[in-house]
Amino acid sequence: MQTPIRIMPHHFVDIVRAHFPTAQTPPPSPLGHDVHRVAEKLLHDKNTLLQVAIGSDDICIPCTHFVGGRCDSTIDTTFRKGAPPSMHDYNLLIDHRWCRRLNLSEGDRLTGRQFCERLQDDGGNMASIYPETPAATRTQWVEQIRAGIAAYLA
Ligand code: SF4
Repeated sequence: MQTPIRIMPHHFVDIVRAHFPTAQTPPPSPLGHDVHRVAEKLLHDKNTLLQVAIGSDDICIPCTHFVGGRCDSTIDTTFRKGAPPSMHDYNLLIDHRWCRRLNLSEGDRLTGRQFCERLQDDGGNMASIYPETPAATRTQWVEQIRAGIAAYLA
């Protein structure tokens, strides 16, 4: 049995939005995190096993912002008005929203394809997941996520 990739729901959604529409693996980030490795694995194998993580995940482990077991980065609260200034706290907030929306709990295991199918069924309305993000950005994300899901499940 394959070892699952621990992933926070919002990180999976970010990968769907940014990398599935073109099926292109991103270059390694200067921050050192593992988005490129996880995206590559998901694009290469739609049955890649994932495990829902809350607070941090396997993408975070090599990141320069992963300090003492949590993200030490910050949120631009002039852009995301009302969001907590700590990225760790913000990630907890949006991942609990995603879990409620997609009926997921920490530790649940599902494949990349199954995660995408849940997003396809229930992911559409971004307003209640990202109310702190400007509406124009959310509208753009909905289109990108739809394109990513369609490309991945085709
Ligand atoms: S530690 Fe923070 S900045 Fe780095 S990958 Fe994780 S959430 Fe992103």
